[in-house]
Amino acid sequence: MRGLPAHLVAARAEASAQRPRHQPCPRCRADTLVARTADRVAAVDVRADPAPVDPNHPPAGRLLWCLVQHEHTGARIRWRDQWHAKACTHTVLADHHCPPQPVQETLL
Ligand SMILES: [Zn+2]
Ligand SMILES: [Zn+2]
Repeated sequence: MRGLPAHLVAARAEASAQRPRHQPCPRCRADTLVARTADRVAAVDVRADPAPVDPNHPPAGRLLWCLVQHEHTGARIRWRDQWHAKACTHTVLADHHCPPQPVQETLL
């Protein structure tokens, strides 16, 4: 018996970081989905709104991500680039943007 090779342990830690999970936004406390993209070259930590958006009418100025279901590894988030978007059938999520701070009445 030997322990798990270090690269397998690292792969497992990476896999759990990639699994989308609900976390409140640290700034506005809104419910958000966070996950690391599965991209090995430039993995990005994504924070997206949990409600899917209509990919034909995406909210302006927001990055779009695909929620991809894999049979064995579960859900993953991937960058919805313009080439992929043409053939995409996934659930589409938009980057979370905090709502604007309510305007203080004393400023008016
Ligand atoms: Zn897609
Ligand atoms: Zn927020």
